[in-house]
Amino acid sequence: MKLIDLFSPIVGPAGLVTDPAALRAHNTDWRGRYHGDAELVVKPASTAEVAAVVRACHEARIGIVPQGGNTSQCGASIPRPGHGEIILNLSRMNRILETDWDNDTLTCEAGAVLADVQNMAQRGGHLFPLSIASEGSAEIGGVISTNAGGTAVLRYGNMRSLVLGLEVVLPDGRIWNGLHGLRKDNTGYDLKHWFIGAEGTLGIITTAVLRLFPLPHARATAWIAVPTPQAAVSLLGHLRSRSGERVTGFELISRMAVQLVLQHIPGSRDPLPEAAPWYVLAEMDDTDPGADPHAALSSALDQALEEGLVLDAAIAQSEGQINALWALREQISEAQRLEGISIKHDISVPVSRIPAFIEDATERLQEQFPGIRVVCFGHVGDGNLHYNLSKPNQQENTEFIGQTPAVNRVVHDTVDRLGGSISAEHGIGQLKVDELARYKDPVALELMQRIKGTLDPLGIMNPGKVFRATTG
Ligand code: ZN
Repeated sequence: MKLIDLFSPIVGPAGLVTDPAALRAHNTDWRGRYHGDAELVVKPASTAEVAAVVRACHEARIGIVPQGGNTSQCGASIPRPGHGEIILNLSRMNRILETDWDNDTLTCEAGAVLADVQNMAQRGGHLFPLSIASEGSAEIGGVISTNAGGTAVLRYGNMRSLVLGLEVVLPDGRIWNGLHGLRKDNTGYDLKHWFIGAEGTLGIITTAVLRLFPLPHARATAWIAVPTPQAAVSLLGHLRSRSGERVTGFELISRMAVQLVLQHIPGSRDPLPEAAPWYVLAEMDDTDPGADPHAALSSALDQALEEGLVLDAAIAQSEGQINALWALREQISEAQRLEGISIKHDISVPVSRIPAFIEDATERLQEQFPGIRVVCFGHVGDGNLHYNLSKPNQQENTEFIGQTPAVNRVVHDTVDRLGGSISAEHGIGQLKVDELARYKDPVALELMQRIKGTLDPLGIMNPGKVFRATTG
């Protein structure tokens, strides 16, 4: 039986993608690094259709790659060539099903775009705080499946702390309804956490109940030049001791990252007259419309300037300036993409060890790979850094990319020695399967494999992601 004949009765012509150009787009990740060969993309319109598609795959032992906005950084949403897998894309299931303002929750389907969820919450006077550079195309199912973080984790936590309930289609086609919007529930294992961050290897998230927060009414944003990463860490402590929870964003950005944005993104502008080795983009907000976070931030920075933690700072004076500062931060990924391929890391270490990580890893890399270029930026309060490496000359860079395993060894050994994680944000996907096997605690890895084997004994759910495929 042809694949199309298997799924056509379930989803109809509107739910099947066979056009070669469209198929190619679904089979390619946004960095252009992974190329799948799925002959068919199935786009169900409801949970019942997802369940029927999964049942059919279960019977025929066809591997399923769940896909949302296809913005994975590690090939999690792209099939492995030569395995006859299908892509199950959830973009048609994009409805926001319910808003419960008194419960501070929003219920939506997995294909809802993150920005649409943020906007819907805001229209009701609430905040959905998760914010990432790809929010205009990333979809909630993928955001949950990767336990996305972003720039507001410091205040609101990552996706794991923003999900109250899930509906999931299990690998045998059964539907688990865990869609309660409860903040407290001690009736045994909290199953939703198995699926959050599982990268679609345990089931397909179809609907979610998300936590909302009061909408801030006043905010202040500053672009701050600092001499060292240690000064940035100390500055965070300084701001939090004065303003506590009101510090919502605290991003570290290296000069090299800023340079790439200025070079590649038209209209971008350096906020300060003189170049500094490191910058912090800090934001404070307040739900009290009468509060003056601008004055609070300004006086905190004055004091930090006196203590030598800060070299110079510019506080945004308008909404336009705030957006321009955030654009500088958000466009780093795009600027890097335009500059060429790089070896990317999204590591975490305890916050106090950020300076040691940057110093140790950079020193070792420069020794081993002279001329290396480090683009480092990230979320200081989460101990999470994007640490991306390339060489400026194109031919040298191609050679350098060929040495990825040796580069990873230096970076990940340093992370491991400092008690950190090799993936704090992007996940494992196809990219870091071997690295996970190398660094994850063996007992933890075995428990993960047992959970996988219990839920998906046939190994049809996003095979070959997170760990090597058990079958197929
Ligand atoms: Zn990040």
